[in-house]
Amino acid sequence: MIRFVSSAQTMVRTMIGMMRRPVVRAIAGVTIPVALLILVDLSVHARGVPAEDEPVDEVAITAVVVDSPSPTAPLLHERARVVQRGETLLELLREHNLSFDEAVAASRAVGSYYDPRRLRPGQELVFRFWDNDPDTLDSVAVRLSAERSIEISRAEDGSFVAADVHRPLTPIPALRTGRITGSLYGAGVTAGLDANLLATLIQLFSFDVDFQRDIHPGNSFSVLFEEYYDEDGHWVRNGSLLSAELVLNHRTLRLFRHYGENGVDFYDPTGRTVRKTLLRTPIEGARLTSGFGRRTHPILGFSHLHPGLDFAAPIGTPINAAGDGTVEAVRNTTGFGIHVILRHANGFRTLYAHMSSTARGIRPGVRVNQGQVIGFVGMTGLTTGPHLHYEVHLNGAPINPATIQFPPERTLRGEELERFQQNRAHLESLLLGSPPRNEA
Ligand SMILES: [Zn+2]
Repeated sequence: MIRFVSSAQTMVRTMIGMMRRPVVRAIAGVTIPVALLILVDLSVHARGVPAEDEPVDEVAITAVVVDSPSPTAPLLHERARVVQRGETLLELLREHNLSFDEAVAASRAVGSYYDPRRLRPGQELVFRFWDNDPDTLDSVAVRLSAERSIEISRAEDGSFVAADVHRPLTPIPALRTGRITGSLYGAGVTAGLDANLLATLIQLFSFDVDFQRDIHPGNSFSVLFEEYYDEDGHWVRNGSLLSAELVLNHRTLRLFRHYGENGVDFYDPTGRTVRKTLLRTPIEGARLTSGFGRRTHPILGFSHLHPGLDFAAPIGTPINAAGDGTVEAVRNTTGFGIHVILRHANGFRTLYAHMSSTARGIRPGVRVNQGQVIGFVGMTGLTTGPHLHYEVHLNGAPINPATIQFPPERTLRGEELERFQQNRAHLESLLLGSPPRNEA
């Protein structure tokens, strides 16, 4: 007997039905008991909720908690009540048929867990009555959060007892897809992704995508993330990003969350961390001849800040891009000579000066990968000998490449890579909305 089943609940049930197996197996490391999922599934039958946008303070809700109710079995009714400005617990209890003495006793019972004076407008209380005794309050739940409430109930002897009740939330994967017309952010909002999730998504993709140049109308995305539901099947909050796909003009990027030996991180399909570092030494076999900091310029003669590192190397030695990024500028100036500036994720830029020449194809707007040869050591500009002058800038200011702390970059190997690949296959099947493919 189902009196209310909101659309949200229907969705949860459908999702649980579709995703029970993948849910349990997809999120390695966070074991979700199957029993919990079943609990959610069953509880959906038991209770109803008003539509979220229904502008009412008090709603009578019929709750059917019996498996096969006999016609005479009493039913427990719930009434949700949102606290208004200035209202006290005592008043609200009095309003629900408690005498003054009873209300004081019930408030005192709550006091061992929660100070009733901390009750705030917008907080929800749920009052319960049996339908065969609608004038006698059975119990009341003071909701502190979606996960916790203080339950006050009437004991046999008429006194009141309180209990601190924690309700487990169940994460369920949710999928949103969309097509980009302007920006990924705008399309994400349209698809119903929240700002936090979008910020994470953009930050993670920014290691591989130049959002100014690579995103074009018609590009598409799929985002898989956790939604947390309470035991009644109500949506409570979003959890973390699980997986995402971004389909650009000429490439498709995917990332996957994985719990490994080093905690949680996001990986590409090959098991490499999505967050990438910059190379501290973008040249092989070179000798550091000048560090970062204040010194006297060998040619100009005055003291100044040396905003980078100098590596002495023979003319023609290849210079590597310190990280994945986009060529921002290729210039030839008096001081730096022939130099290249690369733009990387999260506000980083790198500069490579005194080149003899740039590598073929290195021009503004071109994407480069970490380690790719972008030019060759020379002695153009103001220099006493062949060397690479290398600078790293963060948000426009030079920083010392030798001491900068990057997030750890890893490639999963061995057994951990196998675990990742299993996890990835499940996330990918949810992300792409198809059953896992057999991989030979
Ligand atoms: Zn230098």
